[in-house]
Amino acid sequence: MGSATAWAASRRGLSVTLVEQFAADHDRGSSHGSARIVRRSYDDPTYTRLTGRAFELWRELELDSGTALLRMLGGLDFGERDYIDGVAAQFRDAVVTHEILDAGEAERRWPGLRFEGPVIHHPQGGTVDAAAAVAAFESGAARHGAVLRFETAVVEVREVPGGVRAELSDGSAVTAARAVVAAGAWLSDLLGDRVRLPELTVTEQEVFHFPRLDPDAPPWPSVVHEYGGGVYHLQGGRDGGPGDDRKIGVHYGGRPTRPDHRDRVVSPETRAAMVEYVSRWMPGCAPTPRGEATCLYTSTPSEDFLLDEVGALVVCSPCSGHGAKFAPLIGELTTGLVTGAGDVPERFRLAAHLGSAKG
Ligand SMILES: Cc1cc2nc3c(=O)[nH]c(=O)nc-3n(C[C@H](O)[C@H](O)[C@H](O)COP(=O)(O)OP(=O)(O)OC[C@H]3O[C@@H](n4cnc5c(N)ncnc54)[C@H](O)[C@@H]3O)c2cc1C
Repeated sequence: MGSATAWAASRRGLSVTLVEQFAADHDRGSSHGSARIVRRSYDDPTYTRLTGRAFELWRELELDSGTALLRMLGGLDFGERDYIDGVAAQFRDAVVTHEILDAGEAERRWPGLRFEGPVIHHPQGGTVDAAAAVAAFESGAARHGAVLRFETAVVEVREVPGGVRAELSDGSAVTAARAVVAAGAWLSDLLGDRVRLPELTVTEQEVFHFPRLDPDAPPWPSVVHEYGGGVYHLQGGRDGGPGDDRKIGVHYGGRPTRPDHRDRVVSPETRAAMVEYVSRWMPGCAPTPRGEATCLYTSTPSEDFLLDEVGALVVCSPCSGHGAKFAPLIGELTTGLVTGAGDVPERFRLAAHLGSAKG
């Protein structure tokens, strides 16, 4: 989200310095790896609308960087009936092309997958290459004049007359009119003592890569199955090793952790649950994972994004386990907060989070 902001702000001609505590392309936060789901399917009008704007901006990033980032394989949603009805209602309202199939039709169309009906298919879904997107944001920002400083941590950021001052781990400092803090799982550590934040939960999420039995068969769409803790799976890109496979994970139920003290352990229980799921619902995959990894979610109680300004600071985080698909739009929204031309949904503001029953 910080790199997306750097791209959005620098191409508007703003003077930008991006400060990242780790090396470029690191795997210690939330945005590494080559595959995240992009889709329009939300049972919520705000997010369905925002996905439309995000897709336009993804295409701009692809053109600006000369890199293909999206694989438009389509999206499938099925499972819990209220959710499916809600997605269908939002598709109708937002005029998103879609079709509704029963389970048998879906199984004939996507052999190797099992369904419980109804199944919603929409073509405007697929995957984004997350690591390549971060690289594209950063190289684009650099081309538009941004200064990128890796392996340099912000030790403290505070308001000073006329703006902000960030003290850096190498002893230097950056002063600026505004600072966007997009620290992901580290947000509370960096800002918690000066900004009242909602409760932010950092969890270690486990993902697995299962090979397709027929590697030459057409790739399946991205799938969200409202079942148990919410299962998703998608074409896994490069992460599981050579050749494509299926990346699969469960949305809810990650282990609470702290970003600097995580164990990166994949639990045998989760692995066994995923093997059972694949055996039952994905017979077109070998039921033995060939790769596994962990990644961090940072979630607000409502799972809404947190985007707001506090004096000269802009808080741009956390993106609650579903932010990747919105990254270029979040860069636009935070840049809008910086320039005053912003149009951030009120529910993303601090007041909405702090005023919510759970917050
Ligand atoms: C397993 C998994 C699957 C997911 N699947 C999907 C999906 O299918 N679709 C989807 O839309 N979203 C998905 N997401 C969510 C999405 O990946 C995240 O919302 C997004 O990556 C969050 O990005 P971020 O910039 O907030 O955090 P990060 O990428 O972690 O970036 C925060 C950065 O701030 C840096 N930083 C922190 N503190 C400091 C400091 N003091 N000084 C300098 N730098 C600092 C960190 O080093 C880090 O690089 C998934 C997430 C996970 C973990």
